[in-house]
Amino acid sequence: MKYISTRNSKIKVSFIETFLNGLALDGGLYIPKIIPKFSKSSFYRLSKLKYHELAFEIIKIFTDKTFSNSELKKIIKKSYSSFSSKEVIKLSKIETYNLLELYHGPTFAFKDIAMQIIGNMYENILLKKKKKINLIVATSGDTGAAAINAIANKQNVKIFVLFPKGKISSIQRKLMTTVSAKNVFNIAIKGTFDDCQNLVKSMFNDSKFRNSVNLSGVNSINWARIIAQVVYYFYAYLHFTNRKNKMVFSVPTGNFGDIYAGYIAFKMGVPISKLIIATNENDLLDRFIKTGIYKPGVVKSTVSPSMDIQVASNFERLISDFYNHNSRKVKSLMKNLEKKKFYKVSPNVLKKIKNIFYSNSVNSKKVINLIKFLYKKNHKILDPHTTIGLFSLMDYKSKNFNSSENLFFLGTAHPAKFKNTIEKAIDKKITLPKEIKNVLNKKEKVKILPNNLNKVKNCIKYNSLY
Ligand SMILES: *Cc1c(COP(=O)(O)O)cnc(C)c1O
Repeated sequence: MKYISTRNSKIKVSFIETFLNGLALDGGLYIPKIIPKFSKSSFYRLSKLKYHELAFEIIKIFTDKTFSNSELKKIIKKSYSSFSSKEVIKLSKIETYNLLELYHGPTFAFKDIAMQIIGNMYENILLKKKKKINLIVATSGDTGAAAINAIANKQNVKIFVLFPKGKISSIQRKLMTTVSAKNVFNIAIKGTFDDCQNLVKSMFNDSKFRNSVNLSGVNSINWARIIAQVVYYFYAYLHFTNRKNKMVFSVPTGNFGDIYAGYIAFKMGVPISKLIIATNENDLLDRFIKTGIYKPGVVKSTVSPSMDIQVASNFERLISDFYNHNSRKVKSLMKNLEKKKFYKVSPNVLKKIKNIFYSNSVNSKKVINLIKFLYKKNHKILDPHTTIGLFSLMDYKSKNFNSSENLFFLGTAHPAKFKNTIEKAIDKKITLPKEIKNVLNKKEKVKILPNNLNKVKNCIKYNSLY
């Protein structure tokens, strides 16, 4: 298994380089040279596998010889041992809609599913290579907590988390800042999530700095995250349907990581008829699907903060795929984005993208109303992000009625993480899981910095020494 860059299809790197570098050295994203497809006949065998076993089969394809079979099995087992659901994910129903509950990990967001795997992969690789690294990650709320939980107290690795000050829920913040492990550093930036993401990108693009602190990244562009997320799309099809009809997945979307994993599952053979890009008022991708123009706007704060993003980092991977990995074309589009602040794809490419993708944007008012309605009608409480997934699925169904499709939406966070929003919507106190209650009154550890590259670099450099 070899990887190329979206901006240079001639390079060939191994999984380990992809994993440790995060971003390709030319500023592009790593993608596999070929994505293998399971034959229809292998689905019966796959359907007999437990979640862990299925994860092994899928992740093994992409990690190749990086880990021995027993090492990889151990990584997966250890990663999911802290989940409250033995099979990692769960299914529940709201009328005819299937909710894929992905939030049974230690920090109550779907990001745990990939991040735990990454944490254990780092530990394995770094011990084998006798290497020490520093991780830097920008978070819109959930990535940071999931990454910290996965990395805290691990050997040979430190983690620096940048989050937008005042723009994430207090529970999201406390799940990060109350972790007292010595290898964990929280930095609150006076800015937006996109500012945090830009700071991280600048540090990665500065090769002198990158080498001086042995930088590595766990942002949603890390390929290992994508492959760990592919697993549940397979699992949903294999375990939660009769495998007779096609799948529709509605995915609450920000950085385009989760839904891109769905696209990889589609390429690997899961019969998906539509992937629904469900966004909040930060509707960059909804506008793209409607016009073919990718044009980031100004970030708006919404009730679904983990999706308050106007730069969908993984989208370049999709564009590369639809231009058949023509890296010259991808480079010219990205140059346009840098210079003119937008790019436009050809009508032909847009048409192909729309064959598999549908999109929808849901504002905060509609989210609150639907949370209220679901509680009244079904006594079901969904978090605001997941609610956007359901809303978009209902919108899709109202316009494309096809009774034979299996309609799924992804539950990306536990409602307790967004306690204030939920309680306001349903006008009632909710009970919190004990793990969340435990962090509420713990002491917080965080450094506040302005949106200034040099100040952030200095802080990281100072604390990165072993
Ligand atoms: C990160 C996140 C998303 C968006 O996922 P992407 O992979 O960035 O598109 C959606 N919902 C929740 C709760 C999240 O934490």
